[in-house]
Amino acid sequence: MTVTDLVSYEDALASYDPVMGLEVHVELGTKTKMFCGCATTLGADANAQTCPTCLGLPGSLPVVNAIGVESAIKIGLALNCSIAEWCRFARKNYFYPDMPKNFQTSQYDEPIAFDGYLDVQLEDGEVFRVQIERAHMEEDTGKSTHVGGATGRIHGASHSLLDYNRAGIPLIEIVTKPIEGAGERAPEVAKAYVAELRELIKALGVSEARMEMGQMRCDVNLSLRPNGTETFGTRSETKNVNSLRSVERAARFEIQRHAAVLSSGGTIVQETRHFHEEDGSTTAGRIKDNAEDYRYFPEPDLVPVAPARAWVEELRAALPELPRVRRNRLREEWGVTAHDMQSILNAGAVDLIVATIDAGAGSAAARKWWMGELARRANEDGVELSALAITPAQVARVAALVDEGSLNDKLARQTIEGVLAGEGDPDTVVEKRGLKVVSDEGALGAAVDEAIAGNAAIADKIRGGKVAAAGALVGAVMKATRGQADAARVRELILEKLGVEG
Ligand SMILES: [Zn+2]
Repeated sequence: MTVTDLVSYEDALASYDPVMGLEVHVELGTKTKMFCGCATTLGADANAQTCPTCLGLPGSLPVVNAIGVESAIKIGLALNCSIAEWCRFARKNYFYPDMPKNFQTSQYDEPIAFDGYLDVQLEDGEVFRVQIERAHMEEDTGKSTHVGGATGRIHGASHSLLDYNRAGIPLIEIVTKPIEGAGERAPEVAKAYVAELRELIKALGVSEARMEMGQMRCDVNLSLRPNGTETFGTRSETKNVNSLRSVERAARFEIQRHAAVLSSGGTIVQETRHFHEEDGSTTAGRIKDNAEDYRYFPEPDLVPVAPARAWVEELRAALPELPRVRRNRLREEWGVTAHDMQSILNAGAVDLIVATIDAGAGSAAARKWWMGELARRANEDGVELSALAITPAQVARVAALVDEGSLNDKLARQTIEGVLAGEGDPDTVVEKRGLKVVSDEGALGAAVDEAIAGNAAIADKIRGGKVAAAGALVGAVMKATRGQADAARVRELILEKLGVEG
């Protein structure tokens, strides 16, 4: 189906009610793999980080990574889940070349965390509660690279390369209950949920959750049912969507595609689908029917996980302030609107602003520089704010120089420009570029005298009461001082010297 075959989004929602399920995989940032001591560092030579256990060689035995379990419990607690008193790993049996053991060690009917929720805030400030079914521990697979074909897919490839460095890296899979009642906002809810979950994971310090690096990926399950009915329709599973924007687009596309199929009398096939970044479409993957049987059975080589209650409570007590709570607190402290806070969040500026305030800047100044000049520069260069070559401490120093009157806004912008260009810290840039405001009254007075002498006609007008004409003289002085004077003070001096009341 091409994009033009879709039913319009509005028409789709006029007839159908979307039900979503979101499955998010998070790669934990542990130093070693989930069941062996192999390193997890990115960028190592292919198969350099493998051992008999993660290669599934005969006689090798797995051992559970304690930090992996601790991270799973932290995530479960932060998602308001119950933590199992006793649970086991299970083998999920299937063949795939990038899975050397021929089974994935996962959890089946005994997840470590279950029955929770996550409140997510939509753009307009409304809070939507997403119910969490479970969060369970498992391991990642290796990576196949298909060589020789035009598309990078296996079709048309001459051979495939396998790298097992990723095989056995701990994953937490977080599964929502069916998300109902979001209506036309379903795609927005999906995006907001993944965004909130990502913030949460980062705040917990269990993963960097960088979607572009595949450290966090989302499967978007979607079905439609006619408005006013209860029974779920057949769902599609769009796999491995790896950006917030794509999650929203995938949900939106699937709503329009399902509606097109259903309204023309067709049936939805239960299948996995691939998302395409270029045009936001999805295409069919493999057919999935309910008879799919992974022959799950409890992993005989691993002891059950039975986290002591005292340990769970210790972890609960040590949870950091959760992102939504923190955001609301900061919003109040800074006195900004929900909309402004959303912009700050979207710009990825919250932590930068907090760090700038911690370095001594006022909150208004910190927000002004990060959301103004620096956001503009980041946008121009097509990079994240955090990637700019300036630190919060340097921004705080610029703000301090403005506060003490050494810099005006224009000079501050030039100082920032210098820091970004690698000319050194703010004081060095001010020194090298000679950016200090001319506050020497003598020098300023001389510049004013010069301007009056050079513009006798204008000076006469001002003396005659046309105070508005002073602007032209201020301009002349600012030009003479290369913008490095305080314009308000210059105006005062001009009027003083001409004997006129401001
Ligand atoms: Zn290993």
